[in-house]
Amino acid sequence: MHAVVYDQPRELRLAEIADPVPGPGEVRLRVLVTGVCGTDVHLHDGEFFPVYPLVPGHEIVGEVDLLGEGVVEVAAGQVVALDNMLTCGLCDNCQRGRPAFCRHLRALGVTDPGGFAEYVVAPAGKCHPVDDLDLDTAVLAEPVACAMHGLDVLSLRPGSDVLLVGAGPSGLILTQLLRSGGAGRLTVAGPTPAKLELARAFGADYTVRFGREDPDLAVAALREIAPDGFDVVIDATGALAALERGLGLLREGGTLFVYGMAEKLARLPVSPYDVFRRELTIKGSFAQAFSFDRAVLALRTGRVRTGGLITHRFGLTSYAQAVQTVRGDRSCVKAVVEL
Ligand SMILES: [Zn+2]
Ligand SMILES: [Zn+2]
Repeated sequence: MHAVVYDQPRELRLAEIADPVPGPGEVRLRVLVTGVCGTDVHLHDGEFFPVYPLVPGHEIVGEVDLLGEGVVEVAAGQVVALDNMLTCGLCDNCQRGRPAFCRHLRALGVTDPGGFAEYVVAPAGKCHPVDDLDLDTAVLAEPVACAMHGLDVLSLRPGSDVLLVGAGPSGLILTQLLRSGGAGRLTVAGPTPAKLELARAFGADYTVRFGREDPDLAVAALREIAPDGFDVVIDATGALAALERGLGLLREGGTLFVYGMAEKLARLPVSPYDVFRRELTIKGSFAQAFSFDRAVLALRTGRVRTGGLITHRFGLTSYAQAVQTVRGDRSCVKAVVEL
């Protein structure tokens, strides 16, 4: 089969490799579409613990093509969205209900062969049937599962006044989950007007342009919306400037939620006095856990709508271009590779 293969950071090739064969309890999927996300850009640069040679791609939708021994969960021909996280279920963290921190964690598209390939093999139990969804919707199951887990960790108090910074694909999914998940008022801030327009269409009450050029102007506009500060500020950008300003926009008892991946060495100055005196909370969420089926449900019911999210489409042969688009093209909301 054809697959994108990395032998080391930034060195990728379209290779002809052996078709994978499903073992007991596994299925082989013929990949239909795989989403390209920020994690793939990090993997391109060698970050996020890739194991080489690596076939990337972790937001996978495919058609069940071959069944391994004993598989009863799915049938050949079904279209499924794949939960790419492979956890042991036995280590201390798995047994504490923290599968994302499994001591033996593997992930398709990170440590094991993923979906930028014609075929991928995975445990049948990780396949979620999505025959009733169109592919542009189904391919968002994994990012929605991550956002759903974010909401689990946040445990939003109903009626909260929420500021979300970031209107990329994650931000636009969070916008919708926050809207239906109990935010009393939702303000979305981000640099790109077209994405803010989408945020409004997806349920944001207010949007504010928050660019690198004029952050203080944005803060002034946000202060006008919430003079006493927001109950919750969520950063879906990973930018230190957004986190710093977000911290300053919390009201008493507020929560700063770190959803975007910040630089590993970035440091946020926090006043312990404020944490004490103003009862502030800082939380974060990573990846997804026990949320994939609920993500598919939210897509199925339209709680999370996907129209307008996929702006760029590539083939396997132009994967390098897809990575560059996700990295630097402001007009790109979500890119996918179609097979
Ligand atoms: Zn992703
Ligand atoms: Zn484990």
